[in-house]
Amino acid sequence: MDRIDVLVIGAGVIGLAIARELAQAGREVVILEGQSAIGTGTSSRNSGVIHAGIYYPTGSNKARWCVEGRHLLYAYARKHHLNHRRTEKLILAASSESARLENLFKTGLANGVDDLTMISGQKARSMEPELRCDIAIHSPSTGIIDVHDLMLALLGDAQAHGATLALQSRFDRSTWANGRWESEILGQKVACDWLINAAGLDAAAVASRIEGLGGQHIPKMFFAKGSYARLQGRPPFSRLIYPVPVPGGLGTHLTLDCGGQAQFGPNVQWLDTPSAQQIETGLIQAFDYAVNADELEGFERDVRSWWPGLPNGALTPGYSGVRPKLSGPGEPAADFMLQGPSDHGCPGLINLFGFESPGLTSCLAIGRAVRAIV
Ligand SMILES: Cc1cc2nc3c(=O)[nH]c(=O)nc-3n(C[C@H](O)[C@H](O)[C@H](O)COP(=O)(O)OP(=O)(O)OC[C@H]3O[C@@H](n4cnc5c(N)ncnc54)[C@H](O)[C@@H]3O)c2cc1C
Repeated sequence: MDRIDVLVIGAGVIGLAIARELAQAGREVVILEGQSAIGTGTSSRNSGVIHAGIYYPTGSNKARWCVEGRHLLYAYARKHHLNHRRTEKLILAASSESARLENLFKTGLANGVDDLTMISGQKARSMEPELRCDIAIHSPSTGIIDVHDLMLALLGDAQAHGATLALQSRFDRSTWANGRWESEILGQKVACDWLINAAGLDAAAVASRIEGLGGQHIPKMFFAKGSYARLQGRPPFSRLIYPVPVPGGLGTHLTLDCGGQAQFGPNVQWLDTPSAQQIETGLIQAFDYAVNADELEGFERDVRSWWPGLPNGALTPGYSGVRPKLSGPGEPAADFMLQGPSDHGCPGLINLFGFESPGLTSCLAIGRAVRAIV
């Protein structure tokens, strides 16, 4: 039987960041990925925004890791010459929403986002003339990054420190024997000291196949699809533009990719509880990511509330992603759940549940948090 230090399940941006961190700390790491390439899950179905850290309850994992992760990510992107840009961002409100904007501003400052300013609608229009709003928050440290560049760099770092990537190697189950986790990978028995479940949408399904982990430690997961609409042609904005957040998401906002293409979204569409068959298939493949043209009307209505000049027929269906959530419709947003041995009592096991946004921004800080446990 092969023996390694760490088996990371999932080669999304978070699994890769963890693998990099542990490989650099001198651990022998194997990354197990069920698909034929890295990052085909949520990590390639998001907005690619480096969030400042404004939205999350002060002291939460989301707030701490987003702010720390953002600093680390800009430094990493500079060092590795990754395609990224500090675009800045405006969060807009009508005067009737000014109390909500004020609260967001205070939360951002309390979270350590120390460069925020509250600006008038007039000032916002001097920055982005096509906008309509009465008041806005200006966030200079929000930006965008090419997530594929990032994942390739993380994998490269991990491999340079001895990590191995096993593609098309779906984790099945693990049992605790002789003081290690034993699993079967591509017909080979492998024993590891640390088993790290970074399977994203499938994290609960993976956890249910780890022998000895009590069911009470596997949270119920909810799934909310987020679809995007693409703007045809160049946008009249150079910054990211957000309305005040809505339940389950950040509101229909405008993001830009590193090539300058603009998109609106993601909206929030709660999905039914996955069937046993979907779970068996793996949720990344089982979910339907199609974006219907009849959703465009809703996008147009939302966007026109802050960009009245959106031309008719300028939107086309874009892509979509699915958020792995630990809270359901109508419930307050849950925090990221990082579970180590002191939480569930199983030695050498770490589970990551509910790593929705800002998981991309936070990935390097999450890597550090996992290293601190290991
Ligand atoms: C619509 C949307 C927009 C978002 N926008 C942003 C944003 O702008 N900024 C931001 O910071 N965050 C954003 N996020 C969040 C961010 O995308 C996620 O937090 C991050 O990508 C999660 O990475 P991950 O590695 O946990 O999951 P994934 O990328 O899903 O990776 C999990 C991997 O595990 C693999 N896997 C699953 N089961 C198994 C198994 N049994 N065996 C082996 N491998 C397995 C999968 O194939 C997959 O590759 C957004 C999310 C969504 C849905």
